Amino acid sequence: MSENKIPYKIYLEESEMPKDWYNVRADMKNKPAPLLNPGTHEPMTAEELGVVFCEELVKQELDNDNRLIEIPKKIRDFYKMYRPSPLVRAYCLEEKLQTPAKIYYKFEGNNTSGSHKLNSAIAQAFYAKEQGLKGVTTETGAGQWGTALSMACSYLELDCKVYMVKCSYEQKPFRREVMRTYGASVTPSPSETTEIGRKILADHPGTTGSLGCAISEAVEAATRTEGYRYVLGSVLNQVLLHQSIIGVETKTAMDKYGIKPDIIIGCAGGGSNLGGLISTFMGEKLRGEADYHFIAVEPASCPSFTRGVYAYDFCDTGMVCPLAKMYTLGSGFIPSANHAGGLRYHGMSSVLSQLYADGYMEARSVEQTAVFEAAEQFARVEGILPAPESSHAIRIAIDEAMKCKETGEEKTILFGLTGTGYFDMYAYEKFHNGEMSDYIPTDEDLKAGLEGLPKF
Ligand SMILES: *Cc1c(COP(=O)(O)O)cnc(C)c1O
Repeated sequence: MSENKIPYKIYLEESEMPKDWYNVRADMKNKPAPLLNPGTHEPMTAEELGVVFCEELVKQELDNDNRLIEIPKKIRDFYKMYRPSPLVRAYCLEEKLQTPAKIYYKFEGNNTSGSHKLNSAIAQAFYAKEQGLKGVTTETGAGQWGTALSMACSYLELDCKVYMVKCSYEQKPFRREVMRTYGASVTPSPSETTEIGRKILADHPGTTGSLGCAISEAVEAATRTEGYRYVLGSVLNQVLLHQSIIGVETKTAMDKYGIKPDIIIGCAGGGSNLGGLISTFMGEKLRGEADYHFIAVEPASCPSFTRGVYAYDFCDTGMVCPLAKMYTLGSGFIPSANHAGGLRYHGMSSVLSQLYADGYMEARSVEQTAVFEAAEQFARVEGILPAPESSHAIRIAIDEAMKCKETGEEKTILFGLTGTGYFDMYAYEKFHNGEMSDYIPTDEDLKAGLEGLPKF
């Protein structure tokens, strides 16, 4: 099909939707490092992981070999409510930028969670239900994951307890009400409801919380409540696996029109959308079938890839979770108080960390005012009001498109537009009022976090 036939939006038919998730670990020569027991430093066994996580999800977590994993029919049917998600050719943005580059984005914000997180939430809730559990616990930062999980749990009639980072709980009351609409109970973290929460409150009175802290509380609540398990919205191998649907759909849609991306860009918090978007393309690269330039984009104020170290670290503040080998800033790292753009987790998916260490991917960090400039520029021509997280990817997509303008190259750029930013208007407001500033942590700042890495 010729170039000018490419529509603004490429939708797949229901019948073209993926029937399998793609497990990129199967094609990695260097497998991601295993999770370690924090006490013995031995790889976590399925049995140990099963205390915290659902059985089937433990299998997926440990599966480095099966390339394709069938998506159960019930999950596929749920996906049909909001998928396939559109692959959009950003003609209007291209026109505005006057660039010869061809820009595409895969839009994951078309569901009530306003993000890609529902792709994994429904899978995790499904396996919890299959196992006959009563409910699940989790943490949420900005609230997208908590919302997604609440939606999945209400659909499957599971209980859902969400520990929400206190500053978000206070700043985003509407996000909290969305979760409660779906029947979840929402507790600001740190809270008095867990031992670890009480300890953190005693040690740091007045703290507004962090993701690492909320994870510790959610894990404790799960392991102390009969019939509950803990679920996590990013970072883990299983989450990247579920999110591979983003990339598989994108590839199918692009193949239909004979499009091959040169550059693939995604924002990176814990790595799930980026891992999901690039997985199938990365598989081709790993097998030597095609080449792509992958770019992970992270905030300059939380630069795990670009300034962190590749080491085993705690996943949570309370140090109750297994140790993961990843690019990390240290589990005690907390981004500066003025940071408004999300993507604040201290670590990064082990799969992406290994791929990055092996040189398969580039990473860049961007400052938040530049991110919001890109967000606004995008919103004004493409109509969608993007999430601050997603706007990190927009920033680099625009930068790359502008490079093409200089060189005259007609590169094809693909990026992941992970969600919408309607609950982030407080951050947008600061930006519009000129009250948003950039903060890049000094080496001294980072040293403090890295000193907390486990030593063995
Ligand atoms: C959670 C979230 C992210 C970052 O998480 P990853 O696991 O790195 O993908 C990015 N965008 C949106 C909209 C999110 O909700």
